Amino acid sequence: MSFFFLVPVYIRAKLELWFSSWSFSFKILWVIMHTGKVHVALVASPGMGHLIPVLELGKRLVSHHGISATIFVVTMDASLSRSQLLKVSGITDDFLDVVLLPAVDISARVDKTTGILRQMAMMVHEALPSLRSAILAMEVQPIALIVDMFATEAFVVAEEFMMFKYVFVTTNAWFLALTVHGPNLDKEVDQDDHINNQKPIHIPGCEPVRFVDCYEQFLRRNKVYFRMGTEISTADGILVNSFYDLEPLTLAALHDTRKVGLAPKAPVYPIGPLVRPVELSLRGEVLRWLDMQPKESVLYVSFGSGGTLSAKQTIELAWGLENSQQRFIWVVRPPVENDSAATVFKSNGVNNDFLDYLPEGFLNRTCKNGLVVPKWAPQTEILSHPSIGGFLSHCGWNSSLESIVNGVPMIVWPLYAEQKMNATVLAEHIGVATRSKLLAPKGVVGRDAIAAMIQKIMVDKEGEAIRAKVKMLKSCAVKAVSNGGSSYNALAIVAEECKIGMQRRNAKTG
Ligand code: UDP
Repeated sequence: MSFFFLVPVYIRAKLELWFSSWSFSFKILWVIMHTGKVHVALVASPGMGHLIPVLELGKRLVSHHGISATIFVVTMDASLSRSQLLKVSGITDDFLDVVLLPAVDISARVDKTTGILRQMAMMVHEALPSLRSAILAMEVQPIALIVDMFATEAFVVAEEFMMFKYVFVTTNAWFLALTVHGPNLDKEVDQDDHINNQKPIHIPGCEPVRFVDCYEQFLRRNKVYFRMGTEISTADGILVNSFYDLEPLTLAALHDTRKVGLAPKAPVYPIGPLVRPVELSLRGEVLRWLDMQPKESVLYVSFGSGGTLSAKQTIELAWGLENSQQRFIWVVRPPVENDSAATVFKSNGVNNDFLDYLPEGFLNRTCKNGLVVPKWAPQTEILSHPSIGGFLSHCGWNSSLESIVNGVPMIVWPLYAEQKMNATVLAEHIGVATRSKLLAPKGVVGRDAIAAMIQKIMVDKEGEAIRAKVKMLKSCAVKAVSNGGSSYNALAIVAEECKIGMQRRNAKTG
């Protein structure tokens, strides 16, 4: 609780007036010095899929665990502004600051063949000097550095400043298990067996990872990915955006040192689901349209912040939606050939599309039943609306969790990164989604198969069972992050460690 509440109202009003004229960073410094709050720093690597959960983690540490936090954002988007981020994330707390590190430019060193992971690693590497200078310039240095899993290279900065090192895995525990287990596999025998002979990877205590599901960077033996796995293992703690009811087997294996467990060095803390809460200010035309639709009647279709389809696939999806005769909201992007992650690091900018890549007459024919939204939609707000009855998703982990916390069953359509693993978690491990066997990594899924999947989730008996399962998981998710829940308690342990660390540091420095 802010110390403001301890002083009489009229003095408080004066203080607030005086205080509001200060710059944000100076405010946070003043507050830290005068309240003795423990201060931590977080680093978000580029991409909305990382930024959104890191912002939520910062908010959670501040609002539930009495910590003050500064979030450093690595970006290549020079147009991204701090005020934009504060608005989108709904941050209003005096104990939480967001600092955009100077935009990095790696354009001269990348071409069409440079994968997302490599680009991300390059950007984080470029941002390290600014991160170092920013921390050095702080009068009260943070006790811990919490980086998302693609920014583990920043651990060198934490070591220089003798800070605790935590990693925040913004995806699921199964992917974490693969990542930390990967570097231990025998390079000659195990990896070859999987990559060349297409046998499943057996991670001790976890579901095996089938060849068809495996993360493509594992299959390519990407050095950056294996380095990440090794660096994660050096953390003082690993926070993962999951919870026990969602991944009981994998989380047990991650805790057990006879299986994948890295404790006591790097204990795993399931702290999820952390998802962006609904912002009333984002209520607009789409939400008003939803208000007029019957309960659980609308399918939401989106491929995340960066997913794209080919021209042929876009046309088939349009026909599939139309032929299914179900209501829908479709967030569309202009088609891109042979690159399903084409817009991952691109700003979504202004919606100036002409939508001329959709089948002729599609918009007219579907205007009663469907809404087409170019590029970006207020997803959390849409998924929480009672009219939503299903989500056709690329299975980015944030989207998956947002669906679960709103009790919305999914159709999984993985595109890139670890999404095939996410799809398997959702459809097979926990049964909150349906998938089509036709969704092979290459090739086009036809309109009939798409209409059949939609029918299955929105109308058929099978869909009802999936809906019941996801609703049950929704209540487990709410419990996990509520005061006293397993995820709440796991984050409380991390916060406590930081507090004890701060006391020790203060005792040393007198
Ligand atoms: N998102 C959104 N509107 C959109 C597309 C995406 O608000 O039109 C948000 C979505 O709610 C999620 C994030 O962007 O929080 C995407 O993260 P995810 O992990 O699902 O996928 P990624 O974009 O990283 O592949």
